[in-house]
Amino acid sequence: MSAKIIDGKAIAAFIKENAAKDAAELTKKIGRHPCLAVIIVGEDPASRVYVNNKKKACEACGITSLEYALPEQTTEGELLDRIAALNGDDTVDGILCQLPLPKHINEEKVIEAIDPAKDVDGFHPVNVGKMVTGGDGLLPCTPAGLVEMLRYEGIDPEGKRCVVIGRSNIVGKPAAILMQRANATVTVCHSKTRNLKEILLQADIIVASVGKPHFLTADMVKPGAVVLDVGINRLPDKTLVGDAEFAEVSEVAGWITPVPGGVGPMTVAMLMKNTVAAACRRAAAR
Ligand code: NAP
Repeated sequence: MSAKIIDGKAIAAFIKENAAKDAAELTKKIGRHPCLAVIIVGEDPASRVYVNNKKKACEACGITSLEYALPEQTTEGELLDRIAALNGDDTVDGILCQLPLPKHINEEKVIEAIDPAKDVDGFHPVNVGKMVTGGDGLLPCTPAGLVEMLRYEGIDPEGKRCVVIGRSNIVGKPAAILMQRANATVTVCHSKTRNLKEILLQADIIVASVGKPHFLTADMVKPGAVVLDVGINRLPDKTLVGDAEFAEVSEVAGWITPVPGGVGPMTVAMLMKNTVAAACRRAAAR
């Protein structure tokens, strides 16, 4: 058996096209483009790549992007002041503070400082709460992208057994909640889980968000299962790989997302979708 490769790049392109259409329509109505403010603190090379990708996507979607590149030694107070100013700026629709932040800055405090209506990453407790209760908030981009990918592939999670490996606040936990909202029966596994392989072999859908290369092997996957590989791992030879042992898992799985070109592009596309949605809601609330 050979798995169908889920083309995240192609689905992401489609989502960005739709975001661009919505952005153009809104621009006509409000007389300015939707606007995303991105804050980056310090010189982390991976963060710089992510921020550049987000800026490029904004350009392609007709979204104004503002970048605030702050030095590594920026204090927590200075960062909070910047966020307060952006919260108060009516021409800014989305605010994103690229994580991770330098160790001397409390990430939780920073996330909580962002106006929930502009929280396009969907990390603010108000949006997390709405996600849990099924409310209409802004959803976190990577997990929302997973559900969207399934929708585009015509895979309905309803009644399916979904196993999420990983329980981080940005991927594992929200992925589990959104899969449950899509009516899957969800199990969350983590580093203390016993009999992981046994649990995984029952899964119709696996979300791998561990951050370890070669973690998910073919013997852990039920034939025909969907494998959504969130992991982004750089090998010593600089090759980018996911958490799944791609060659062998794709022989067993029914569908699989590649790395690169799978979940990664979806995350950026969902950010564009969230930014336009935030702008539309703010315009409607006026
Ligand atoms: P994280 O915060 O390090 O979480 C990793 C999770 O994996 C933890 O919950 C951990 O369990 C669990 N884990 C570790 N070893 C395990 C084991 N042996 N068995 C079962 N579970 C185990 O990482 P993250 O932020 O969620 O990110 C995960 C991966 O996704 C990373 O590679 C990251 O780069 C990638 N990522 C990709 C995107 C994208 O757009 N594609 C976005 C975000 C993240 P404990 O909780 O018990 O420690």
